[in-house]
Amino acid sequence: MTVIFERSFERTLARLVADATNGQNFEAWTFDDRESRQQAERTLKEKGVRARIRNAYKPLVNAFIEEIDLQDVEAIEVRYPVHPNAPENRFRLEAYPLAAMVGNRPITFVARADSDFDYDVLLKSVAGSERRLKVLAPNRVHIDAAGETSVSPTGWLMRNGNATGERLATDYEQLFEETINAVTHFDWGATEPYFQELNIRVALPALDEALPIGDEVMSLREALHEDFYFSLLEFFQKKSGRPLGDRGLKPGQIVPQILPSSGDIFVRVETQPLTSRYWDGAEQQIETATEPVAVQQIEAELDKIGGEAFEALTRSGRTVRARYIKGRDAAVMISGGQHANETTGGAGALRAARRLAKLEGAHFTISPLENPDGYALHQRLRQDSPRHMYHAARYTALGDDLEYRSEETAGPYLFEKKIRFQAESLSGARLHVNLHGYPTHEWTRPLSGYVPRNFAMWTLPKGFFLIARYHSGWAAQAEQLLDKVTRHLGATPGLLDYNDRQIALYEIHAGETGFRIINGFPCLASIDDRHTVPMTLITEYPDETIYGDAFIAGHTAQMETVLSAYSAWQEIMASS
Ligand SMILES: [Zn+2]
Repeated sequence: MTVIFERSFERTLARLVADATNGQNFEAWTFDDRESRQQAERTLKEKGVRARIRNAYKPLVNAFIEEIDLQDVEAIEVRYPVHPNAPENRFRLEAYPLAAMVGNRPITFVARADSDFDYDVLLKSVAGSERRLKVLAPNRVHIDAAGETSVSPTGWLMRNGNATGERLATDYEQLFEETINAVTHFDWGATEPYFQELNIRVALPALDEALPIGDEVMSLREALHEDFYFSLLEFFQKKSGRPLGDRGLKPGQIVPQILPSSGDIFVRVETQPLTSRYWDGAEQQIETATEPVAVQQIEAELDKIGGEAFEALTRSGRTVRARYIKGRDAAVMISGGQHANETTGGAGALRAARRLAKLEGAHFTISPLENPDGYALHQRLRQDSPRHMYHAARYTALGDDLEYRSEETAGPYLFEKKIRFQAESLSGARLHVNLHGYPTHEWTRPLSGYVPRNFAMWTLPKGFFLIARYHSGWAAQAEQLLDKVTRHLGATPGLLDYNDRQIALYEIHAGETGFRIINGFPCLASIDDRHTVPMTLITEYPDETIYGDAFIAGHTAQMETVLSAYSAWQEIMASS
């Protein structure tokens, strides 16, 4: 265990309160929850200071929550800036999910020609009058930790009526910058992996604020986790000589733990040894599981399904367990949990396998938890804040995406990936159904350009959708598969309505989905020779952070996809 960095930070709100003197007035933007900002305003008032302290994170959404009265308002128009160093829709994304927060009032977003950091809001009343207001969105243009030019939200201070103001380097920004700096200047040596676990433990006095839309929540702690995780991943990517976005890097397991505090702001960065334990919850009825299934139960369910057991080891020493059910049918590989913070695939895979195993001639492999090191980390992190998306649990304990390991490039680190090679050689399957998910609420990186770099298409939920990847020569079979599976899914109660709601909101804030719609379901299909199996069907259910009935709906959609893909594949292979 090596301590790399340790520091406490003065809270920006406390500094603003301490510095202010009787008779002053100011407006400030800080990264703080509503309660803390309002408490500071009250303390300042007692000192004879008039202050308005706003959230630097999602200022337009917060203005509608905290300041803008919509009574008598019939329609809303928002003009947003377009900055040359940011995606065209960046400030419309930052306004998400406003379109769903204003009742039935029509709201339009119009791109402006300038890049001034503010929104023009026009409120049209029932009586025909119009009210205009300017909502500041303080941002700065800077070189971020990956060496890229970013436009990121920042603190701001306007004193005594000065309408321009100046940047306020807040606690949130300082903590991030100094911590990244300490990690990037540490001597990590020249060979991967550089560490077992790199633990970044932060105490931050910020409460999450749930929004009244779907699973949406504004969380400064969750956003900090995401920005730390991906910024450090990018640093180690560059250090290893790989391009940004490459998923083959193997630095070790990066673990930001952003914990609530009652006022102190503190960070401690240290390396830690990996462990092989789990943080299992209670056993559930698999058919109606309301939270991610315990590993012990996943193993017990596999035992019930039967067949030939096969397994692989992970870097931490955990075991990936799978089964081969041998039969006459055209074989299908079924897997879940490649990205371990995507939680509905594993339960859906097990539910489907239970049903398939009862069929005469059933022929498949089932590997419901491909990434147990990530899954254990997800269990551990969820104990702190169950509704955070925790992308740190997405990859393996090596820090890579197991899918991108090949026998040629993995060296001594093939580990989890062996399970797929075994599944393929045991079964001879030509179809792999690979169950995935993505965030159910907005995913941001507020300190590195706001929109998650290389993952822009995943920043907002947009329904349950399917991706077919196939070798050249398999396009017709891919089309048949997507057609049959989406037809079947259309009969799942509520699923099409759920999709339509999310896609409508997505299109207002992000633009076109870029999908083809097949039988009401968004789909992508393309040639991809990366996989060794000729046909891969990938599911994407918005499942990161859902529980209860929403979780059941998620693993039910996953199960229905597997069952319909399996039966469609029998027809397709029989006729081709
Ligand atoms: Zn995934």
